[in-house]
Amino acid sequence: MEFKFSMPTEIYFGKDVVLKNKEAFSAIGSKALIVTGRNSSKKNGSYDDVTKALSQTGVDYVLFDEVEENPSLETIEKGSDIGKRNHVDFVIGIGGGSPMDAAKAMAVFIKNPGINKENIFSAGKLESLPVVTVPTTSGTGSEVTQYSIVTSNKEKTKKNLGQRIFPKFAFIDSKYTFYIPYNITVSTAIDAFTHLVEGYLNTNSTYMSDIYGEKGFELFKYCFEKLVSKDLNQEFRNKIMMASVLGGIQIAQNGTSLPHGMGYPLTYFKGLPHGLANGVLTIEYLKSFKDQSKINRMLNLLGLSRLEELEDILNKLIDVKIDISEEEINEYSNKFFINKDKLKNHPEEVGFEDIVRIYSKSLLK
Ligand code: NAP
Ligand code: FE
Repeated sequence: MEFKFSMPTEIYFGKDVVLKNKEAFSAIGSKALIVTGRNSSKKNGSYDDVTKALSQTGVDYVLFDEVEENPSLETIEKGSDIGKRNHVDFVIGIGGGSPMDAAKAMAVFIKNPGINKENIFSAGKLESLPVVTVPTTSGTGSEVTQYSIVTSNKEKTKKNLGQRIFPKFAFIDSKYTFYIPYNITVSTAIDAFTHLVEGYLNTNSTYMSDIYGEKGFELFKYCFEKLVSKDLNQEFRNKIMMASVLGGIQIAQNGTSLPHGMGYPLTYFKGLPHGLANGVLTIEYLKSFKDQSKINRMLNLLGLSRLEELEDILNKLIDVKIDISEEEINEYSNKFFINKDKLKNHPEEVGFEDIVRIYSKSLLK
């Protein structure tokens, strides 16, 4: 047995972890750039907890609260400029994956003043300011991953920034997620599920990473029941948050694979939320495996006996009708097929025709 496993982010999970561990903020800096989306963090208590913790420990801060969903490099430059002008020495991302990923990217841009949206992808390995994450959705796992997924309008796609930006601390408190609307709860939960699936059925998977995947599937047995019955109590919120963290730890080791890579154009061109973009492709992706043995193990942990039962659950949760042509599918498949990073994470040989088939069977119904 041989593997590498690295989780440098210090993880605090539970009720009120931000205030209980407020000294962590003053230990890493004296002035923070807080990065959030436009509204939710001010309503769900996360922004209040963080600013209280900073005030109580004498840490100064400035706020950038303009991060949109699927954050663009333009927004990242804008937030970085505020950070640079205010001489911040660390960055706190509060929110869903979009503000957390934007915070990580800003931490790189602020630390490296010569970096901008034109040269970031050819810059090589860069240092970043320390980052703290406070997730308020249960989906991306970004609080514990090194990835920052950004929108490049120049390349008309979403892509990984290409830097390893593991947060220094992740403060994970499911109370911030109690009032997420049902549709966002579903799309983010499906993102977490697809991380577990793609990290588990992955060329890079190991005995160690499988532990996270398999625990995650056990949690999803309960979470899928609650999602389908729309019974989103606090126990559900806690478990789905844990499943999301486990998925994040697993993809931090292994990466994602086909559905994530293939889902990006569905978000960029068709406006599909990230989780649904992966989720809508998941069943056909699973069916495409020649070796179904690990999929059967996953189904067993989910309390299911056949793939069709999982299909039934996802069909109940995902109601997506997108207008897409065969030409567009060919175009997306071409673009994806050049992306060797995702293809090499898929443990079986796939051809261009397989990619077209997964898109077509999933979307041309
Ligand atoms: P998001 O884009 O961060 O947020 C989606 C929506 O949810 C926003 O309208 C946001 O409002 C709202 N929201 C957030 N927290 C809420 C709460 N507690 N209550 C009510 N509404 C809330 O969604 P996401 O799915 O978490 O993140 C998606 C992004 O993460 C994508 O760009 C995706 O590519 C990326 N991602 C990253 C990784 C990684 O490892 N880095 C992994 C998977 C996905 P506000 O704007 O007002 O806050
Ligand atoms: Fe994802």
